[in-house]
Amino acid sequence: FNNELQRSEKMDMISELAASVAHEVRNPLQVTRGFLQLTRMNTDDKGREHLKMALDELDRASDIITDFLTFAKPQFDKIDLLDLKEEFSHIENIMQPLASLQGGTLAINIPDGLHIRGNSSKFKQACINMIKNSIEALRNEGQVTIRAWQEEQHIIISIRDNGAGMNEQELARLGEPYFSNKTKGTGLGLMVTFRIIEAMGGQLEFHSKKGEGTEAVLTFPLVEPV
Ligand code: ADP
Ligand code: MG
Repeated sequence: FNNELQRSEKMDMISELAASVAHEVRNPLQVTRGFLQLTRMNTDDKGREHLKMALDELDRASDIITDFLTFAKPQFDKIDLLDLKEEFSHIENIMQPLASLQGGTLAINIPDGLHIRGNSSKFKQACINMIKNSIEALRNEGQVTIRAWQEEQHIIISIRDNGAGMNEQELARLGEPYFSNKTKGTGLGLMVTFRIIEAMGGQLEFHSKKGEGTEAVLTFPLVEPV
């Protein structure tokens, strides 16, 4: 109804505004970080301790922006036909270094010709949040594997890792705001991810076993390229 429409227009305005604010805030955060680090080199122990705390808090602010708004930019909600191979090629460029840093490998295997409908920035944000979790869960000989295929009237994407895995209680809490088992986690990544996938008309399910690994399975309606 009328009120509903106004409300959703307001939500759009708010998310656009949040996106551009996040974008603008990231630079001064980085600059501040640089100066704090410089100051840290020529101060006493007490000062160093305080600066360490300031740096940690700055990093926390950056992590929150990363989980929410990595690809935030104007025209936030443009809906397009997304070519999965192309989307994941961008994602691979961003995530490969993080996987290497963790001593793991990231293998992405997406065939040509698979398409879904949605917003490219948001889709990438959702995938990156999941892949980041997979990479962060890796242990020795860590591997993250991403595949996609068509199954009847659906497109399926699987993001699988051989990392630490989760028990049933943890699994049940995925997507809950502020649920995190990490010392420096935001607990916001999957909340954002679930919302994005739902808004795209998709579904997201997690399968996991403690000590063995985790698989995220995304299901989207099939679209014919025009
Ligand atoms: P954060 O990463 O900041 O902790 P998320 O919402 O991204 O927040 O994830 C919430 C929690 O879910 C993580 O702290 C972790 O315990 C668990 N989790 C998510 N994905 C995985 C995964 N692939 N393997 C193991 N645990 C996971
Ligand atoms: Mg996360």
